[in-house]
Amino acid sequence: MTASTTCPRIVILGGGFGGLYAALRLDRLDWGDRRPEIVLVDRGDRFVFLPLLYELMTGELQSWEVAPPFSELLVGTQIRFVQAPVEAIDLDGRQVSLGGDRPQQLTYDRLVLALGCETPMDWVPGAADYAFPFRSIADAYRLEDRLRALEATDSDKIRIAVVGGGYSGVELACKLADRLNDRGRLRLIEKSDQILRNSPNFNRKAADKALEERGIWIDWETGVRDIGPDRIMLDYRGHLEDIPVDLTIWTVGNRVPDLVRGLPLAKNERDQVLVQPTLQTRDRPEIFALGDIAEMRDAADPTASPVPSTGQAALQAGDYAGWNVWASLCDRPLLPFRYQHLGEMLALGNTSATLTGLGLQLDGPLAYAARRLVYLYRMPTLEHQIKVGLNWMAKPLLDRLSDLSTPRR
Ligand SMILES: Cc1cc2nc3c(=O)[nH]c(=O)nc-3n(C[C@H](O)[C@H](O)[C@H](O)COP(=O)(O)OP(=O)(O)OC[C@H]3O[C@@H](n4cnc5c(N)ncnc54)[C@H](O)[C@@H]3O)c2cc1C
Repeated sequence: MTASTTCPRIVILGGGFGGLYAALRLDRLDWGDRRPEIVLVDRGDRFVFLPLLYELMTGELQSWEVAPPFSELLVGTQIRFVQAPVEAIDLDGRQVSLGGDRPQQLTYDRLVLALGCETPMDWVPGAADYAFPFRSIADAYRLEDRLRALEATDSDKIRIAVVGGGYSGVELACKLADRLNDRGRLRLIEKSDQILRNSPNFNRKAADKALEERGIWIDWETGVRDIGPDRIMLDYRGHLEDIPVDLTIWTVGNRVPDLVRGLPLAKNERDQVLVQPTLQTRDRPEIFALGDIAEMRDAADPTASPVPSTGQAALQAGDYAGWNVWASLCDRPLLPFRYQHLGEMLALGNTSATLTGLGLQLDGPLAYAARRLVYLYRMPTLEHQIKVGLNWMAKPLLDRLSDLSTPRR
């Protein structure tokens, strides 16, 4: 397939927070009679709203709410979705090679790189074989299967080690503690002397309290030496201890995928692609990069640290990237990326959360409800927001009806 000379082709690689929101933005812009072909490529068939992935482990939400299929989200748009793994990108030939069942080449006039990061599973021996990562819908299903198998045994306690006291480790540990109740024996392994190092004090304190209330043991200043099928070896200041566990979950690290690392584009020491304020890569103005794989800076303060690798940042950048791709094809001025930090929210179990942002600090059930509403508002399309919102409103009623119809003994 080649890009035609009359109709330019925009290829967006990765349908996560950066790529999908950029595609939707592009589709909505006014192209007049110069509408290009917009192609969105992802190896999966669904967009995953990662901040709500934990809710699948407790049954609070269902897959269709957290991970709607692209085919549904893109109804009514002119975006062409291709489900395939990206295998190579030829920058000089402006061509992307897709693998999978139907390998194909896609040429592009503009390329948007939004492939996200991966969880490195090779930092300690045994992690790749025995630890469970938690970054995709497939990871969530695999973890669910393992939990069900453990729940079906007759052992008194289910012993779980969660490696990493960052957002994912803390949120997942609280959710699993609430799922397993008295049966769960959870420990969180953190290499420093505090959890959530980059969080506001209010959120950190709320998280500390939530972990304590759930009896989650924290191994402070502790590293992991290796992981086995039913054990984990911890390293506390050189003192090694082998701990028996039923399940180890690895939540540490954010690695730029090899495909992006191998591209001849300028990068930082973490292999993130360096971009101009317009999100164009420094070397190739026809290529835009955003989200976790890019070092993005707020144009209002370019000397400040790069913006964090979060969904919030990727989503905002998606909006700018969409606009700027359009502007670059329509001879209009491109906009410098401005990041607005709206705050931070964390789920702390089945009924509680904490949030700090926009002058507000909230925890407990009110924060839980506010977090849900904010995420509902952030969902990619109005149709999906309505479907999910209606379901959330109807659920308490349906649960009550089902309770009433269950015969009492
Ligand atoms: C469990 C979890 C919870 C999180 N919670 C929060 C939160 O509460 N708030 C927050 O702001 N951020 C949160 N984050 C971080 C946030 O999700 C990421 O920063 C954000 O998703 C980055 O967006 P992205 O577009 O760069 O990448 P992603 O959203 O990861 O999207 C990348 C896409 O590229 C696709 N892809 C990758 N490689 C290929 C390939 N070779 N071929 C084809 N397709 C490919 C993937 O399938 C994926 O759909 C969380 C992350 C995780 C893992």
